[in-house]
Amino acid sequence: MQIIAKLKILADAAKYDASCASSGVKGRDSLDGKGLGSAEGMGICHSYTPDGRCVSLLKILLTNFCIYDCRYCINRKSSNVQRARFTAEEVVRLTLDFYRRNCIEGLFLSSGIIQSSDYTMEQLVEVARSLREDHDFRGYIHLKTIPDADPQLLVLAGRYADRLSINVELPTTEGLQRLAPEKDAAGLVGAMKHVAKHIEIAKLELQAQASGRVVSLPGAQRTQRAVPPRYAPGGQSTQMIVGADGASDALILGTSSALYRRQRLRRVYYSAFSPIPDASSDLPLQAPPLVREHRLYQADWLMRYYGFTHDEIVAPGNAGMLDLEVDPKLAWALANRHVFPVDLNRASQRILLRVPGLGVRSVQRLVAARRVRSLRLADLQQLHIASAKVLAFVELADYHPRIDLLDSPLLRRQLLAQMAQNSTQRSHSGMKPRVEAQLALF
Ligand code: SF4
Repeated sequence: MQIIAKLKILADAAKYDASCASSGVKGRDSLDGKGLGSAEGMGICHSYTPDGRCVSLLKILLTNFCIYDCRYCINRKSSNVQRARFTAEEVVRLTLDFYRRNCIEGLFLSSGIIQSSDYTMEQLVEVARSLREDHDFRGYIHLKTIPDADPQLLVLAGRYADRLSINVELPTTEGLQRLAPEKDAAGLVGAMKHVAKHIEIAKLELQAQASGRVVSLPGAQRTQRAVPPRYAPGGQSTQMIVGADGASDALILGTSSALYRRQRLRRVYYSAFSPIPDASSDLPLQAPPLVREHRLYQADWLMRYYGFTHDEIVAPGNAGMLDLEVDPKLAWALANRHVFPVDLNRASQRILLRVPGLGVRSVQRLVAARRVRSLRLADLQQLHIASAKVLAFVELADYHPRIDLLDSPLLRRQLLAQMAQNSTQRSHSGMKPRVEAQLALF
């Protein structure tokens, strides 16, 4: 089969993997004139397709042959799809060709399992090794690892890759047992722990080297002059399929929270289940609404940057599901109105982060501004944060929201109407509505 035909099949087969964003890593560079693959010192760029998937990396499978039969997977053994397989050398060549033509910033490589987990992992590692060692490639490499492969192969993978990921696939062990019986949930977690441990060791080595201390970590004895080897500096990530096994959003967020806490994952990606041809009768016939995936990302953001815990994000009484109509922070505020109105001149940063419509940067700007003066309504306009969502829940020196509205079921409806109107206005004029328009509501 010609390489272009293989590329067509194996790039298409990789599109179901959402975990390919390259954020959070300092790029290697070739500004010194050596090597190949500089992102000109600006790190890695990404671009996304309209459905939100990242396309700045060459995103392919090594092969879509697989000896496993995970029911939700288009590449499972029993699936009737056209198969193809790259050699490691072909993937290296393709990556370099695309890179030289400025089409990609790096490589995202995953694979079905062929022969054995160890054999497949060896092939993946060989691609990364050859790019780094034979071609001095300094672009971004994300390797999807095979959890039950020899741990030594995971160590090697981390030496060459910027990011490693191991897909947990489904949020519960029961779901995994039912839909991917050949996969071992405990093995998945064990592999993540192993990777997390090596990432931690590499970080400590780097810190020790920067401070001139001699490192004496288990398996990491070296002198203060030695440059510690990199190990997946972009951390590890995982992906969960949403809507294949009936797990609620509360369960999904609980699993993510445990992964962030225990395995120190950099990102959890959520991928809405897409119905596949000749699917097992265990699977739903329809994909979940895409907005569910979006709400999960927003909720995930709240856990990572806004101090929310997973169990307070999903309001009780909705069968553990997120509100699809409003974003999770607004849903939380509407369910916890006793916390509001929040005084923007006095509230702690932790409480400010809970105000709908206030992002991390807005909160930083507010806190800086209130150090020098008492904040008034006009200041919000200047800080570009005078949205209806904010005004409903805050008070300022010269502004108090209508308490009767804050306590009323009408608030939700009015906010929804105002947000719809704002978005229409923005799409027509490209401008943010002025504060007076927002105030009409209050
Ligand atoms: S092991 Fe991976 S590629 Fe193979 S069937 Fe399962 S999910 Fe698909």
